[in-house]
Amino acid sequence: MKVPKTRKKLKRGIAQVLPAQCLYCDSDQGFETPIVTRKLPFRDCTLEVSFEVTQCKACGETFLSEPQAEAQLKQTVAAYQKEAGLFTAAELIARRHALGLRSQQKLVDASSGAIAIATLKRIEAGQWVQDKTTDIAIRATLETLEQKQADAELQRICNQAMQGGAGTAVTEIARSCFDWSKMSDMRTMVWTICVSDAQPNEPKNVRTWEDYASADEDSNNLVPC
Ligand SMILES: [Zn+2]
Repeated sequence: MKVPKTRKKLKRGIAQVLPAQCLYCDSDQGFETPIVTRKLPFRDCTLEVSFEVTQCKACGETFLSEPQAEAQLKQTVAAYQKEAGLFTAAELIARRHALGLRSQQKLVDASSGAIAIATLKRIEAGQWVQDKTTDIAIRATLETLEQKQADAELQRICNQAMQGGAGTAVTEIARSCFDWSKMSDMRTMVWTICVSDAQPNEPKNVRTWEDYASADEDSNNLVPC
Protein backbone atom coordinates (compact mmCIF):
# COMPACT_ATOMS: atom_id res chain seq x y z
CA MET A 1 0.00 0.00 0.00
CA LYS A 2 1.32 3.40 -0.97
CA VAL A 3 1.47 5.91 1.78
CA PRO A 4 0.91 9.51 0.72
CA LYS A 5 4.11 11.56 0.86
CA THR A 6 4.22 13.81 3.87
CA ARG A 7 7.14 15.68 5.25
CA LYS A 8 7.15 16.22 8.93
CA LYS A 9 8.44 19.67 9.71
CA LEU A 10 11.11 19.39 12.34
CA LYS A 11 12.51 22.02 14.61
CA ARG A 12 15.96 23.21 13.59
CA GLY A 13 18.80 21.45 15.33
CA ILE A 14 16.87 18.26 15.99
CA ALA A 15 18.16 15.41 13.85
CA GLN A 16 15.56 13.62 11.79
CA VAL A 17 15.20 9.94 12.57
CA LEU A 18 14.48 7.65 9.64
CA PRO A 19 11.54 5.27 10.09
CA ALA A 20 12.45 1.69 11.03
CA GLN A 21 10.25 0.43 8.21
CA CYS A 22 9.69 1.74 4.69
CA LEU A 23 6.57 3.87 4.58
CA TYR A 24 5.76 2.45 1.14
CA CYS A 25 6.34 -1.30 1.42
CA ASP A 26 6.74 -1.84 5.18
CA SER A 27 10.09 -3.53 4.58
CA ASP A 28 12.67 -3.27 7.35
CA GLN A 29 15.66 -3.86 5.04
CA GLY A 30 16.77 -0.29 5.52
CA PHE A 31 17.70 2.56 3.22
CA GLU A 32 20.49 3.72 0.94
CA THR A 33 21.37 7.27 -0.06
CA PRO A 34 22.19 7.34 -3.79
CA ILE A 35 22.71 10.49 -5.85
CA VAL A 36 20.04 10.86 -8.51
CA THR A 37 19.74 13.30 -11.41
CA ARG A 38 16.28 14.54 -12.20
CA LYS A 39 14.59 17.27 -14.15
CA LEU A 40 12.83 19.58 -11.72
CA PRO A 41 10.48 22.46 -12.49
CA PHE A 42 11.60 25.73 -10.91
CA ARG A 43 10.02 29.08 -11.73
CA ASP A 44 9.88 29.28 -15.53
CA CYS A 45 12.54 26.59 -16.10
CA THR A 46 12.98 22.86 -15.98
CA LEU A 47 16.39 22.21 -14.48
CA GLU A 48 18.50 19.09 -14.40
CA VAL A 49 19.65 18.71 -10.81
CA SER A 50 21.70 16.02 -9.07
CA PHE A 51 20.96 15.42 -5.40
CA GLU A 52 21.02 12.79 -2.70
CA VAL A 53 17.85 10.86 -1.88
CA THR A 54 16.94 8.20 0.65
CA GLN A 55 15.94 4.98 -1.10
CA CYS A 56 14.29 1.87 0.29
CA LYS A 57 16.50 -1.16 -0.32
CA ALA A 58 13.45 -3.36 -0.83
CA CYS A 59 11.06 -1.43 -3.09
CA GLY A 60 13.38 1.29 -4.43
CA GLU A 61 10.98 4.08 -3.51
CA THR A 62 12.80 7.35 -2.84
CA PHE A 63 12.13 10.24 -0.51
CA LEU A 64 14.02 13.18 0.93
CA SER A 65 15.07 13.66 4.52
CA GLU A 66 15.03 17.22 5.87
CA PRO A 67 18.76 17.84 5.15
CA GLN A 68 18.36 16.23 1.72
CA ALA A 69 15.37 18.45 0.93
CA GLU A 70 17.40 21.50 1.95
CA ALA A 71 20.37 20.38 -0.18
CA GLN A 72 18.08 19.70 -3.14
CA LEU A 73 16.62 23.20 -2.88
CA LYS A 74 20.12 24.70 -2.80
CA GLN A 75 21.19 22.70 -5.86
CA THR A 76 18.05 23.77 -7.70
CA VAL A 77 18.49 27.43 -6.79
CA ALA A 78 22.14 27.29 -7.95
CA ALA A 79 21.15 25.63 -11.23
CA TYR A 80 18.54 28.33 -11.81
CA GLN A 81 21.04 31.09 -11.01
CA LYS A 82 23.53 29.64 -13.50
CA GLU A 83 20.81 29.43 -16.12
CA ALA A 84 19.78 33.04 -15.46
CA GLY A 85 23.36 34.37 -15.36
CA LEU A 86 23.14 35.28 -11.67
CA PHE A 87 25.61 34.67 -8.86
CA THR A 88 25.32 31.35 -7.09
CA ALA A 89 25.91 31.30 -3.34
CA ALA A 90 29.22 29.46 -3.82
CA GLU A 91 30.48 31.93 -6.44
CA LEU A 92 29.56 34.92 -4.31
CA ILE A 93 31.24 33.50 -1.20
CA ALA A 94 34.36 32.57 -3.20
CA ARG A 95 34.70 36.05 -4.67
CA ARG A 96 34.11 37.72 -1.30
CA HIS A 97 36.76 35.53 0.30
CA ALA A 98 39.20 36.14 -2.59
CA LEU A 99 39.01 39.82 -1.68
CA GLY A 100 39.94 38.98 1.90
CA LEU A 101 36.48 39.99 3.14
CA ARG A 102 35.81 37.33 5.75
CA SER A 103 32.62 39.01 6.98
CA GLN A 104 29.53 39.72 4.91
CA GLN A 105 29.26 43.14 6.58
CA LYS A 106 32.52 44.27 4.97
CA LEU A 107 31.09 43.72 1.49
CA VAL A 108 27.90 45.51 2.50
CA ASP A 109 29.94 48.45 3.82
CA ALA A 110 31.87 48.64 0.54
CA SER A 111 28.68 48.80 -1.50
CA SER A 112 27.69 52.32 -0.33
CA GLY A 113 24.23 51.17 0.61
CA ALA A 114 23.56 49.22 -2.59
CA ILE A 115 23.49 45.84 -0.83
CA ALA A 116 21.50 45.05 2.32
CA ILE A 117 23.04 42.64 4.80
CA ALA A 118 19.85 40.56 4.96
CA THR A 119 19.86 40.20 1.18
CA LEU A 120 23.49 39.11 1.09
CA LYS A 121 22.90 36.58 3.89
CA ARG A 122 19.92 35.13 2.04
CA ILE A 123 21.83 34.75 -1.23
CA GLU A 124 24.84 33.18 0.47
CA ALA A 125 22.56 30.79 2.34
CA GLY A 126 21.73 29.44 -1.12
CA GLN A 127 17.97 29.04 -0.81
CA TRP A 128 16.87 32.28 -2.41
CA VAL A 129 17.17 33.76 -5.90
CA GLN A 130 18.14 37.40 -6.09
CA ASP A 131 16.62 39.75 -8.64
CA LYS A 132 18.70 41.12 -11.50
CA THR A 133 19.09 44.59 -9.94
CA THR A 134 20.52 43.14 -6.74
CA ASP A 135 22.84 40.90 -8.74
CA ILE A 136 24.14 43.87 -10.75
CA ALA A 137 24.74 45.89 -7.56
CA ILE A 138 26.73 43.06 -5.99
CA ARG A 139 28.69 42.46 -9.19
CA ALA A 140 29.58 46.15 -9.47
CA THR A 141 30.75 46.28 -5.85
CA LEU A 142 32.88 43.15 -6.26
CA GLU A 143 34.40 44.38 -9.52
CA THR A 144 35.29 47.75 -8.00
CA LEU A 145 36.98 46.04 -5.05
CA GLU A 146 38.74 43.55 -7.33
CA GLN A 147 40.05 46.39 -9.48
CA LYS A 148 41.34 48.17 -6.38
CA GLN A 149 43.04 44.99 -5.24
CA ALA A 150 44.62 44.46 -8.68
CA ASP A 151 45.78 48.09 -8.80
CA ALA A 152 47.34 47.80 -5.36
CA GLU A 153 49.17 44.64 -6.40
CA LEU A 154 50.33 46.31 -9.60
CA GLN A 155 51.59 49.31 -7.68
CA ARG A 156 53.39 47.09 -5.19
CA ILE A 157 55.18 45.25 -7.99
CA CYS A 158 55.99 48.47 -9.83
CA ASN A 159 57.43 49.98 -6.66
CA GLN A 160 59.42 46.86 -6.04
CA ALA A 161 60.72 46.90 -9.59
CA MET A 162 61.82 50.51 -9.29
CA GLN A 163 63.31 50.26 -5.82
CA GLY A 164 64.92 46.90 -6.33
CA GLY A 165 67.54 48.02 -8.84
CA ALA A 166 66.58 45.43 -11.42
CA GLY A 167 67.43 41.79 -11.30
CA THR A 168 66.06 38.45 -12.34
CA ALA A 169 64.02 38.05 -9.17
CA VAL A 170 61.92 41.09 -9.98
CA THR A 171 61.48 39.91 -13.55
CA GLU A 172 60.23 36.58 -12.31
CA ILE A 173 57.80 38.23 -9.88
CA ALA A 174 56.55 40.50 -12.64
CA ARG A 175 56.07 37.55 -14.95
CA SER A 176 54.17 35.52 -12.39
CA CYS A 177 52.00 38.33 -11.02
CA PHE A 178 51.06 40.29 -14.09
CA ASP A 179 48.48 39.63 -16.65
CA TRP A 180 50.47 40.91 -19.61
CA SER A 181 47.27 41.58 -21.49
CA LYS A 182 46.73 44.48 -19.08
CA MET A 183 49.78 46.28 -20.34
CA SER A 184 47.97 49.59 -20.64
CA ASP A 185 47.14 49.48 -16.94
CA MET A 186 50.74 48.74 -16.13
CA ARG A 187 52.05 51.52 -18.30
CA THR A 188 49.67 53.99 -16.70
CA MET A 189 50.80 52.92 -13.28
CA VAL A 190 54.51 53.12 -14.09
CA TRP A 191 54.06 56.48 -15.72
CA THR A 192 52.16 57.78 -12.72
CA ILE A 193 54.86 56.65 -10.34
CA CYS A 194 57.79 57.68 -12.51
CA VAL A 195 56.53 61.00 -13.80
CA SER A 196 55.74 62.20 -10.29
CA ASP A 197 59.46 61.87 -9.49
CA ALA A 198 60.82 62.80 -12.89
CA GLN A 199 61.33 66.30 -14.12
CA PRO A 200 58.16 67.57 -15.76
CA ASN A 201 59.97 68.42 -19.00
CA GLU A 202 61.36 64.97 -19.44
CA PRO A 203 58.48 62.52 -19.33
CA LYS A 204 59.71 60.92 -22.56
CA ASN A 205 62.65 59.50 -20.65
CA VAL A 206 60.31 57.31 -18.69
CA ARG A 207 60.28 53.85 -20.11
CA THR A 208 57.15 51.75 -20.18
CA TRP A 209 56.47 48.15 -19.32
CA GLU A 210 56.20 47.45 -23.03
CA ASP A 211 59.87 48.33 -23.31
CA TYR A 212 60.69 45.84 -20.59
CA ALA A 213 58.43 43.20 -22.04
CA SER A 214 60.14 43.49 -25.42
CA ALA A 215 63.59 43.62 -23.86
CA ASP A 216 63.04 41.16 -21.06
CA GLU A 217 65.96 39.03 -22.15
CA ASP A 218 68.11 41.67 -20.50
CA SER A 219 66.93 41.93 -16.93
CA ASN A 220 68.96 45.09 -16.36
CA ASN A 221 66.43 46.88 -18.52
CA LEU A 222 63.69 46.22 -16.03
CA VAL A 223 64.00 49.29 -13.85
CA PRO A 224 62.03 52.09 -15.44
CA CYS A 225 63.61 55.14 -13.81
ZN1 LIG B 1 10.07 0.15 0.44
